Amino acid sequence: MYKVEWSDKIEKLIGPYHTVVAEILNFVNEDPKFQVRSENDIGDLLIKIKDLREDGHCNYSFLEVVVRTDLKKHICELKYIGVDLFAMYNEFVVNYENFLSKEWTDKDLYPEGSIKILVETFGYFYSDLIHGEIFNKTIGESIAIRELRQELTLESTCPYCDINEMEFDLSSVDHFLPKARYPLLAIYPKNLVVACSACNDRIKKDKLYLPIMHPYFDNLDDYFYFVYKNDRIEIKFFEQITLANKKKVANFFKLFRLKQRYNKSGKRKLIKLKEEILRNVRRQSKYIEDKSIENIQLKIKEEISDRYENISKEKKIDSLTKLRLDYLNQLKKDEILKLSMYIVYEIENETSY
Ligand SMILES: [Zn+2]
Repeated sequence: MYKVEWSDKIEKLIGPYHTVVAEILNFVNEDPKFQVRSENDIGDLLIKIKDLREDGHCNYSFLEVVVRTDLKKHICELKYIGVDLFAMYNEFVVNYENFLSKEWTDKDLYPEGSIKILVETFGYFYSDLIHGEIFNKTIGESIAIRELRQELTLESTCPYCDINEMEFDLSSVDHFLPKARYPLLAIYPKNLVVACSACNDRIKKDKLYLPIMHPYFDNLDDYFYFVYKNDRIEIKFFEQITLANKKKVANFFKLFRLKQRYNKSGKRKLIKLKEEILRNVRRQSKYIEDKSIENIQLKIKEEISDRYENISKEKKIDSLTKLRLDYLNQLKKDEILKLSMYIVYEIENETSY
């Protein structure tokens, strides 16, 4: 709902994943090249690595990891594919945003039979390698992916739904482009989004609809507002929004089933908000001389503005802030007269007793 700022801290934590993948894929292009499987392949690979390490001029940061983990087996597998994976990876990374906008496709990127190997190898990168101590000690200090979750769940709502306030144990790292279909991006930093378990594990899973908004690039708040009418929460686009962006927002809503979820969990908050406003103004009205409808309207406006200011401070921290802020705008724009008439009616009824 709100854009996640890509901070220096995030870059420092998981930025190196990109470097490591690029280095590995670059290394895959070098000799020895394997076409046909042989039992000596891993041995040959290790000889090459030993030479590189002794050479001292090489900057490959993953060399230590290869020797001590299964990475060597997976590098062999990548070498059997026999294509320039480094170029493929770079093409995808460079076009990541275009892919989200559907202006570029990865359709012809994978050579026949390579997807299975890529899914297995990059699956290993994500499931084992980056969660392991040897890898993390080589590229940093601690388990970076865990720290990313810690960093992004601290006093934050889920960047997808804004319904759930995140907590470390109820969050997970989502592959925005699912790793089963886009294996090359399994540990590409901009493809890793920390989200609530409901959004990631139970609702989105391996689905994707294109074109789509992405929380590292877009602030959904800029494109639409919520409207609460006839007991339904609907979304309306701001006037200048292009058709292309409307599609991207609509797909984001579809992917995370936001309309249904907002209608389930958001309405109660809005009803409560309106009741609180009425109650507060009603209470204030006891202590003011001028109980005219104009003056009551003024008090309601002030009450709405105060609340707007307070809720704004809680954006991305407290849940459903966008929904509540949009509703306050709606009340201010369309319902002040109705609310003031209601209060004046209540005052008159009470004094008549
Ligand atoms: Zn969520």
